[in-house]
Amino acid sequence: MRIGVPKEIKNHEYRVGLTPDSVMEVVAHGHEVYVETNAGSGIGAEDAAYVAAGAKICATAKEVFDVAEMIVKVKEPQAVERAMLRPDHTLFTYLHLAPDPEQTADLVKSGATCIAYETVTDGRGGLPLLAPMSQVAGRLSITAGANALQKAAGGSGILVGGVPGVAPAKVVVIGGGVVGAHAITMALGLGADVTVLDRNVDVLAGLSRTFGSGLRTVYSTKAALEQYVLDADIVVGAVLVAGAAAPKLVTADMIRRMKNGSVVVDVAIDQGGCFETSRATTHAEPTYIVDGVVHYCVANMPGAVPRTSTFALNNVTLPYTLALADQGAKAALLANPAFLPGLNVYKGKVTCQAVAEALGYDY
Ligand code: NAD
Repeated sequence: MRIGVPKEIKNHEYRVGLTPDSVMEVVAHGHEVYVETNAGSGIGAEDAAYVAAGAKICATAKEVFDVAEMIVKVKEPQAVERAMLRPDHTLFTYLHLAPDPEQTADLVKSGATCIAYETVTDGRGGLPLLAPMSQVAGRLSITAGANALQKAAGGSGILVGGVPGVAPAKVVVIGGGVVGAHAITMALGLGADVTVLDRNVDVLAGLSRTFGSGLRTVYSTKAALEQYVLDADIVVGAVLVAGAAAPKLVTADMIRRMKNGSVVVDVAIDQGGCFETSRATTHAEPTYIVDGVVHYCVANMPGAVPRTSTFALNNVTLPYTLALADQGAKAALLANPAFLPGLNVYKGKVTCQAVAEALGYDY
């Protein structure tokens, strides 16, 4: 199969669909890979590395779309990219269609086979192609919080790990899923005093087994949440209620009563956020202050570390890319019931129930 990798064109997107190592694997399976010039330069993967891996370099995205049967990307196709899609194309990338009627209409019109990373499942209810970005965001949440806690950033001026003789920061993580577990790893690693709250006791038990007595696990009730949030130096919001907006667990009144110079990192901001005072921010201006509390609410945190994020993403997407290339989209999807939910649009029809319901398409 001929596989195309265009350069990402969404604002400040530096990730790339296939790394040179992934290209080498795909080529070893007997396929041809066409990469747009400079597609990997944002992560330090130059054209020469792609050529060495067996790819051919194209001067423009149009050349890539023209020659390829399958397009592998990272972000949803932008309008100019959607205009280049054809019925014989397979598109494999993040799509996030439910809140995006314009993109959905264009994909339906294109007739292409559109498979979204974020709805591929692992058969146990997990979302394996979303997990690496949650891992990255979880780990970043603690460095972001640690920076915001510094005096110059408006924070209270506490070093997260303290020093011998001076107590460390109190880090409270709300939601102990993928983001939460990775935030805990980093916070404990830095020497913080760490508490996790979750409303699922099995999640708490798992975290307790993993991290041992260094981690305080607390069942999340309104009273417990208030007690720990008011005493915290950094609060990480990492809850997810699948398919729903994040619950506003920390109210504006609680924020008002938090310690001056404490920090909230709302990782769940991409689902609306779990602090009542949160509004989405960007990497250019990541924080703002409400009632003396520094808020970090960047909606695309992995974008800060595109190199790590690209490699982490390729680690999980590569087996699916190979299956699509080796078997063709239809056979690969039908052969794997966990892969099939990834199909969002097929031959002019919306095939993902949640997207169809959100946007009023027949399903
Ligand atoms: P996950 O499903 O692995 O974990 C969510 C956890 O929240 C679960 O353990 C669940 O039991 C817990 N939870 C739900 N309601 C709760 C409540 N009321 N009180 C306490 N705990 C509760 O999800 P995840 O992959 O860790 O993602 C967490 C959030 O981070 C999501 O909103 C996701 O979209 C977001 N995210 C944001 C970025 C970013 O760049 N900002 C990147 C990746 C993920």
